[in-house]
Amino acid sequence: MRIERHPLLSPSLGTQRELLSFHFGEAGRGQKVYLQASLHADELPGMLVLHHLKHLLAQAEVRGEVLGEVVIVPVANPIGLAQTVMHDQFGRFDLNSGENFNRRYPDFFAAIADGIATKLGADAEANKRVIRTAMVDVVAHQPVLTELDSLRRTLLRLAVDADVALDLHCDNEALLHIYTEAPYLEQATPMYRYLGAETVLLARGSGAASFDEALSGVWWQLAERFGPQYPIPLACLTATVELRGKTDVGHESALRDAANLYAFLQHRGVLAGAVPAIPEACCEPTPLAGSETLRAPCAGVIAYLKRLGEHIQAGEVVAEIIDPMTDKVTEVKATVEGRLFARANRRYATRGLDLGKVAGKVAFRTGNLLGA
Ligand SMILES: [Zn+2]
Repeated sequence: MRIERHPLLSPSLGTQRELLSFHFGEAGRGQKVYLQASLHADELPGMLVLHHLKHLLAQAEVRGEVLGEVVIVPVANPIGLAQTVMHDQFGRFDLNSGENFNRRYPDFFAAIADGIATKLGADAEANKRVIRTAMVDVVAHQPVLTELDSLRRTLLRLAVDADVALDLHCDNEALLHIYTEAPYLEQATPMYRYLGAETVLLARGSGAASFDEALSGVWWQLAERFGPQYPIPLACLTATVELRGKTDVGHESALRDAANLYAFLQHRGVLAGAVPAIPEACCEPTPLAGSETLRAPCAGVIAYLKRLGEHIQAGEVVAEIIDPMTDKVTEVKATVEGRLFARANRRYATRGLDLGKVAGKVAFRTGNLLGA
């Protein structure tokens, strides 16, 4: 195991943060897998999972079983991790700029498509190298003014040439669910089956400029633009893996998730050893555009009538919002049929609060599918 330290730009006199990456195997030999946790810094299950996976990988390395390269960053956001405000951890948005830590990643397609047009040919592997070189160049020339800019660029630099990049997050209260890109479904299927995902949400670009989609989207967008005479592989499978809810941090689930990730890396040929059989799927993937976010139409105490994982019919009441002063009870109903895969983890709603998400089978939303 090799440890690299990446100093971030200092935002203020007398302070300096750094990012640590852990490297297993050899760069340039076989496939590269990149895993990071807690980019939203208050989403901690993945941090414990990577702690355990790090030890499994170190043992595999001693046995000579790392066939490719694995890079892990268990603490992907030291800026957000230090944002404790009035005893509450505040890790989704940068307090300095208000920016979501998982937004504003570059549009590689827009940045490189014109420049590589004359360099592509009939060889898919050669085209992959051309595109990777151009992407590395984009990252190297990202404007970096702030500490947050330097965090984003460091993470991209570590992940930009990966064949698989998994970004480990969690929701408030949730089933294990996965966001991934529809064109990669074939590659993503073993991944979500090993992980036991109970909801899989597919999109062709969510419009959010998130870390994962920046890395994967460019490949199918270029393939569509240049067509079959210039074959371009889907060379970076990515996913945002939502490891249940914010308090689902414990050794039992983390050890199981780490073992499942290990099995997936064996399946990809990055780790040696007998490959465990791919488990049965726990769900059918559904479109991200079919996922309904239920919002509180008024303020009040939240009383859920449906549990996580329940199958909801359209028109069923998922929660009640109660005003105990007027005794007014407001029902919040799903308008789509599907599984309730996430709920809020607080029980007081201000108007507009996200109360939960239902994974419907039929796409009905357009535009930015992930919001802020
Ligand atoms: Zn997140």
